[in-house]
Amino acid sequence: MQTSYEVIIFGLGGIGSGAAYWLGRQYGRDVLCLEQFEIGHVRGGSQDHSRIIRLSYHTPAYVALAQQAYQAWAELEADAAESLIVRTGGLDFFPVNAAIPSSDYTESMAACSVPFEWLSAAEVRYRWPQFHLMDDVQAIYQAESGIAPAARCNAAHLRMAQAYGVVLQDNEKVTAVQDSNAEITVITDKARYQCRYLIITGGAWSNEALAHFGWQLPLTVTQEQVTYFATPDLAAFVPERFPVWIWMDDPCYYGFPAYGEAGIKVAQDVGGAEVTAVSRTFTPNPDNAKRVAAFTKRLLPAGYGPPILAKTCLYTLTPDRDFVIDTLPGHPHIAVAIGAGHAFKFASLIGKLLGELVVDGATAAELSPFKIDRPILRQTNPPKQFLV
Ligand SMILES: Cc1cc2nc3c(=O)[nH]c(=O)nc-3n(C[C@H](O)[C@H](O)[C@H](O)COP(=O)(O)OP(=O)(O)OC[C@H]3O[C@@H](n4cnc5c(N)ncnc54)[C@H](O)[C@@H]3O)c2cc1C
Repeated sequence: MQTSYEVIIFGLGGIGSGAAYWLGRQYGRDVLCLEQFEIGHVRGGSQDHSRIIRLSYHTPAYVALAQQAYQAWAELEADAAESLIVRTGGLDFFPVNAAIPSSDYTESMAACSVPFEWLSAAEVRYRWPQFHLMDDVQAIYQAESGIAPAARCNAAHLRMAQAYGVVLQDNEKVTAVQDSNAEITVITDKARYQCRYLIITGGAWSNEALAHFGWQLPLTVTQEQVTYFATPDLAAFVPERFPVWIWMDDPCYYGFPAYGEAGIKVAQDVGGAEVTAVSRTFTPNPDNAKRVAAFTKRLLPAGYGPPILAKTCLYTLTPDRDFVIDTLPGHPHIAVAIGAGHAFKFASLIGKLLGELVVDGATAAELSPFKIDRPILRQTNPPKQFLV
């Protein structure tokens, strides 16, 4: 059995799968991926039919990164000969005195020359009569927004990675890592491996992984949930006729057209309780479900019906809700990514960037906001700002 590799990828969720693909293109069978559970498991943050992809973001750095994310998906789609990203258009709703400032979004998109429309409630109701909106709500419409079909995207990344020769080992847990700077030793519950470069994409287990290097970050893991509602008027909520949307207030809700299930999907952002990757359950929280149902009934009466399905899933939140995309200080051949509960749309790009960071020592992308040793991440009990 080969035990020495150029690259080892630790954790095969959305971001790890992206890294497997991009590093597979470069190093083929000299890439080993280690996943503690079965591939496609639902214990982390990257499963389900859909994730929102959008250019509308609250800083120019994220808008620029999102533009590159679309390119990365397009390259995967071309290489895999599979169409993945579903463009539905996207609406960001800002009620009067919204907790999230619309100017952050409009100015950031303007700074990156991303076209958008600023719509009144009446204009939204005219174009999408599915929405029941009060007159004091305004919206930003951006045409490129849509769906990144999470499970299909992960599968495409891994199928292509294997086509390049990448070795996928699931049900194998990394239990220790030692970096001698000449080489990195990765010990699992089954074997011992050496590599030159290590990519850590551990999601809610990130602090467990970083502990091997004496690092701990002030992360908050929450148990989030999404609900699919049996939509009576299904034809009005198909992706061709209904956009993804985000209600930019506190509480913050977001939703999808009917995709993957016979009904619309709605959820509250950061609506879940703090848990750990071990203490989490798979039982949806009834209060969260009630909040989401009530909101859906108000905003989308024609889309609302009995719940078909509710699923739980984990966010791994940094206190400022910014990603970590960086090499570990003192370990230039080890890169880490943490998705802060909004990284799936960037999964392919972040996978690519992690490879560039360890192999080339740099990337063309602007990653300074995502440093692992930024001041707020060095505080034990930092202030938390999860709504952005
Ligand atoms: C309900 C919900 C809705 C979301 N909506 C959106 C959205 O609309 N748009 C968007 O862009 N993002 C969204 N996100 C966020 C996005 O899904 C995540 O940021 C992203 O998927 C995280 O990917 P990851 O690879 O970092 O983590 P994960 O997918 O959790 O992967 C980490 C992997 O590491 C493995 N691992 C950990 N420790 C070990 C070990 N010791 N040995 C081996 N393997 C190990 C785990 O088993 C796991 O498979 C949402 C997340 C949730 C939960």
